[in-house]
Amino acid sequence: MVLTEKNGIKYYTFKGFEQLPHCFTTRVGGVSQGSYSSLNMAFREDKRENILKNYELVCNAIGVKKENTFWTKQVHGDNIVVATEEDRGKGLLKPRDIEEGYDGVITNIKDIVLTGFSADCVLVFFYDAKRKVIGVTHSGWRGTVKKIVQKTVQKMQTVFGCDPKDIVCGISPSIGLDHFEVDEPVVTEFKNTFGNTVDSYILEKGNGKYHIDLNSIVEYTLLGCGIDLNNIDKATVCTMCYPQLFYSHRIMGNSRGSMAGLISLR
Ligand SMILES: [Zn+2]
Repeated sequence: MVLTEKNGIKYYTFKGFEQLPHCFTTRVGGVSQGSYSSLNMAFREDKRENILKNYELVCNAIGVKKENTFWTKQVHGDNIVVATEEDRGKGLLKPRDIEEGYDGVITNIKDIVLTGFSADCVLVFFYDAKRKVIGVTHSGWRGTVKKIVQKTVQKMQTVFGCDPKDIVCGISPSIGLDHFEVDEPVVTEFKNTFGNTVDSYILEKGNGKYHIDLNSIVEYTLLGCGIDLNNIDKATVCTMCYPQLFYSHRIMGNSRGSMAGLISLR
């Protein structure tokens, strides 16, 4: 993962994705004000004109068109949708006419810009250079427990015939082990899905509190799908540790901006 600065905006790119326009944005370099300052990438309560400008800045920096972005509604579920030609512009410039929630989106169509959102949650980027298929998936703790990344890989296999051995993955900055504190019921959900193997990613802090290493559990799930460890670029930056760089839901609550993950085939 590399932090890049272009025209004043800062964003991350991933190893293995060099051929593709893609990024995981930070909050640096945009035009939004106040708690949305400054590179807010989702509507929330921010001004529409500012968000459009932010998209223009980010899209220019990575070489895509904002008219081709496609947003789905993220609901902490595990549904994956295949983006089609008609989806271009939905979310940012056109109403998002799909009411169901889709936390993952994949496609083999060129130039359409798959867009996901997070502010502490994990975004996972997928690329199969052989079949020319991409994806982006939102995996908060609920999506991680539902193994949404495994469902994304499976959908890439069934719809496009991808082989997990050919898929490279990028795991975005998210809330880290040092800050992601949960109560016992959340730990129980992880154990129900992953069994005792998940113990090595959970720290008991006393008084019924636990800390969870979400990015590593996502990586572990990807390895279980047959993805090669060398093909996974996992961020180790915590979104709560660097408030100048990231919006954090845990710190800011609802009056915050969003980072976005964008990816497109050429
Ligand atoms: Zn932290």
